[in-house]
Amino acid sequence: MIIVMNESATIAQIGQVIRAVEDLGLFARPSRGENRTVIGVVGIVDEAQIAPLVDMEGVDQVAPYSRAFKLVNREFQNAPTVISLGDFAIGGPEFVVMAGPCSVESEAQVRETAEAVRACGARILRGGAFKPRTSPYSFMGMGEEGLRILRTTADDTGLKVVTEVMAPEQVPLVCRYADILQIGTRNMQNYALLEAVGKVRVPVMLKRGMMSTVEELLLAAEYILANGNSQVILCERGIRTFEKATRNTCDISAIPVIKSQSHLPVVVDPSHAVGVRAYVAPLARAALAAGADGIIVEVHPRPEEALSDGAQSLRPPQFAVLMDELRAMAGALGRTVASG
Ligand code: PEP
Ligand code: MN
Repeated sequence: MIIVMNESATIAQIGQVIRAVEDLGLFARPSRGENRTVIGVVGIVDEAQIAPLVDMEGVDQVAPYSRAFKLVNREFQNAPTVISLGDFAIGGPEFVVMAGPCSVESEAQVRETAEAVRACGARILRGGAFKPRTSPYSFMGMGEEGLRILRTTADDTGLKVVTEVMAPEQVPLVCRYADILQIGTRNMQNYALLEAVGKVRVPVMLKRGMMSTVEELLLAAEYILANGNSQVILCERGIRTFEKATRNTCDISAIPVIKSQSHLPVVVDPSHAVGVRAYVAPLARAALAAGADGIIVEVHPRPEEALSDGAQSLRPPQFAVLMDELRAMAGALGRTVASG
């Protein structure tokens, strides 16, 4: 349920409503909009208990959420969530590009890639130090040494770091090195992990489960917000369909759907969505055209030597062309590509 206050409701009246909700054993999450405050009621809500609060002073209406997700819902917060990362932000007018290798393989590989993508205008360095692999015999990542490489290289080149955290017990470690915690597609419904990243104050990029609906993605994000972390970025990375020409099927329509239902920023990962180098740039352009807040792209200086996902990694010159195209498109759409 949500409690919508009058435009003229006073701070004291809002406080009284919050206390009334808490007296019922529920949590009240007030959100101050430009004109009015909306109080989200979180917990196992009995509609009959909440409905009488409509008679309290300052209350305009008590209404059910139209969907199961609450804190991530546009009905709860209409203004877009903007995640500040120093001199740029995700979720505002700028289109933000995250780029880097699939996996951290060596200091030299990460440095070469970081310098190349930074020179083209990327703002965030991606790379996995803990890798979820389909086969237990594949390269699993460099662990903490990989995190250290990402951090020092990003600091030296003026980039931020996004990297994956795979288990709740890894969260404190990864938080020491990362600016954004990535939750991979295989972990979208790992509720213990969602709760753990909900309890920290580092932004989270939540990737859509490869077999999940948009509603399930939003409910997974709800776990993170309900645990106290409101800095969540959603990532469309392709879903499994019957189509075999691409690794996954990129659900471009998910961008406007999520934007209409939620205030959270949305980015697209065209690399994992298609899995084929030649198709990555067209999808990246489609993401910008459809209203995404950014992209996360795999780039490797020598994809043929990559320990993971070489087939979908752009070479630095291809990435440079893509960035020029994105800047031209952004101009036509009244947006800009974040640059440092
Ligand atoms: C990745 O971005 O490195 C990754 C493993 O992606 P996904 O979880 O989408 O497969
Ligand atoms: Mn990858």
